[in-house]
Amino acid sequence: MIESLLTRPVHKVPDRVRFDGRVLFLTESPELLKRQLAGEDLPFDPHAPVGSPSHPKLRDNISTDEITPAYICYYFDETLGDFPYLGLKAGDEFPIVRGSVRAGHFVAAVSGKRRGKGSSREQSPYAELVAGIRLVIAENIERIYRENCQNLGVFTSTDFDLIERVRRGEEIPLTEFTKDEGGISRGIIEYGGLFNYNLARLQGKVSVPKVNTPRRPMTIAEKIFARHWVADPATGAIGVPAVKPGDQGFVRTDIRFSHEYVTPMAAIFFDQLVGPNEPVNDPGSVFFFRDHLTFLDQVMRPEHVQMGLLDVANQLETKQREFAVAKGIKLYGQLDHRLNLHGALAAAGSEAICHSKILEAHAEPGRVIIGSDSHTPHAGAVGCIAFGVGTTAIFNSWITNDVRVEVPPSFKVVVRGQKPPNITAKDFMLEILRHPYIKNGEAIGQIIEYAGEAVESLSVDERATMTNMAAEVGAFTGIIAPDDRTVAYLVAQRGMTAAAARALCNGLTSDPDASYVKVIEIDASTLRPMLALPGDPGNGLYVDELPGEVRVDIAYAGSCTAGKKEDMDMYARVFAEALERGERVADHVRCFIQCGSREVFEYCQARGYDRIFAEVGATFVEPSCGACINAGPGVSRTKDEVTISAINRNFPGRSGPGQLYLASPYTVAASAIAGRIVEWTTGPGERDAANTDALVHA
Ligand code: SF4
Repeated sequence: MIESLLTRPVHKVPDRVRFDGRVLFLTESPELLKRQLAGEDLPFDPHAPVGSPSHPKLRDNISTDEITPAYICYYFDETLGDFPYLGLKAGDEFPIVRGSVRAGHFVAAVSGKRRGKGSSREQSPYAELVAGIRLVIAENIERIYRENCQNLGVFTSTDFDLIERVRRGEEIPLTEFTKDEGGISRGIIEYGGLFNYNLARLQGKVSVPKVNTPRRPMTIAEKIFARHWVADPATGAIGVPAVKPGDQGFVRTDIRFSHEYVTPMAAIFFDQLVGPNEPVNDPGSVFFFRDHLTFLDQVMRPEHVQMGLLDVANQLETKQREFAVAKGIKLYGQLDHRLNLHGALAAAGSEAICHSKILEAHAEPGRVIIGSDSHTPHAGAVGCIAFGVGTTAIFNSWITNDVRVEVPPSFKVVVRGQKPPNITAKDFMLEILRHPYIKNGEAIGQIIEYAGEAVESLSVDERATMTNMAAEVGAFTGIIAPDDRTVAYLVAQRGMTAAAARALCNGLTSDPDASYVKVIEIDASTLRPMLALPGDPGNGLYVDELPGEVRVDIAYAGSCTAGKKEDMDMYARVFAEALERGERVADHVRCFIQCGSREVFEYCQARGYDRIFAEVGATFVEPSCGACINAGPGVSRTKDEVTISAINRNFPGRSGPGQLYLASPYTVAASAIAGRIVEWTTGPGERDAANTDALVHA
């Protein structure tokens, strides 16, 4: 316990709030956006027909990539207030420019469905806050983004009738923002953010409501929450008999991790609010990663270098490394240096992408893991509750080990039957993501539990593709019950005994009569290779439904989602077949293979995949997030360039300005050879490679 926090003054915000400023409608029309930035206040009647003059169509699916594009997140202080919505696409335009939101004196920002989807970056609501936005109104709001808003003291609402009240300058009762919230979220809003709420909690000024849920049939996720529930903060007692959706409280985490995009801002919050000389609680269970920006120097646009952004970005690495050393925290850093094109020292890749290493080395069935990244559910592949949180939650977890949760409802996706040999977990996910339940945002904040024979037949690597992409679903997390394959994985990967691995899995199944808010069934045997058209991972269609030929310029095979050992098996298999036929990567295609970790890189070397990749004409790149975050080899340069990529999301600008199609590792490799988007086909009677290889990688 940090003693100085126990006597720190802490106050609630007033019980009525007034929002002095204008309302910014994030419209589909670039013209309407420009007129607002020029000073015009648009008429808005939420009850008028959408698209009428008094109810302009608002943008749906505004991702955090659009609120603060990746390069904006190199900043980790109030400079961020110059940049909100710089990546916001309206029509074919990006109407919002540096400083225009601040200059417009906006206090509220209004949009449509699924506000804040995508990455968990807290830079987005922080940029909005320091630009003057104190209230976010949208039809529905993604969980992490909404929590980040609350943690920072930004108000959120789905009530469009508030708009007129804000415009009238009305004092709005705080209860308008707390009435639908449970005890903890309400407390956080009342105290103006998570840190102040935690201060009040530690000082005994607020009491966290006790969970007294009687024993009931539970899902696997609920069982893990119950085991980790902070039952009594005073005594440190952990565990309650049962929880149910809606229960609010704190859970004790087993692992907390962050990467260089987030650690520096969290470290600044820690230094400023807790104190630079105070220790981090239990540093042995905290991990830092230098994974997102190790190749940035190779691809940063000259104008961005001239703006000083490379220097700003490099400060992220320095700040994280210094904080790690000061607090005794394990940092998975960058690899030995190489000389860049200008003869300066530059990084040669990362030890690992955070999710890859957490799964390879740390995650165990039944654990609770939080990470500063929306794809933290990756570790759910071995039966963890792993979820992304924002900067404020990470820095608060350094103080207490705890993280606040409201137990989400669970829904189940059952993938039955036997999949065709050229179908992978990525195809499952692109099929799931186009389901109306997900596209309409109904799954936001829920837990997605994957089950069924086709899921059980997948390796842990392939399962991780599915749990990883719970982020694209908008889910709280994704989880798969551990089984014999999980045990085999822990034995092979970690050197555990089978008995020890089995003991971890004990009791980690959903009860037969556990309740789900929705069950979606998919027949794997009917699936064909999938694509997501540019713009959103939910834009799925079968490859054979493409209306015409799509020539590709770039094929990118990497990232946390698609840089695992089994992904490498898939690329190598397609490329080895091509070489046997005397084919190579098409002349006009630039093809990149990038591993999720040094361990996967060495696996490729041991199996001779590096030679296959070289022979076929693909560039084998050291591990890093790289092109997935628009920061490494494989990014597009113009909006006409077409990329076929195995990464997990294709929001506008995610990997450069071009047209980004998502697909499975097989489809990416086959398309690299063909020079256009094609599916990979196996000969008649061929085995399902993914299923049989699964036994190798278990
Ligand atoms: S590889 Fe892409 S999705 Fe994965 S952690 Fe890195 S940036 Fe995020």
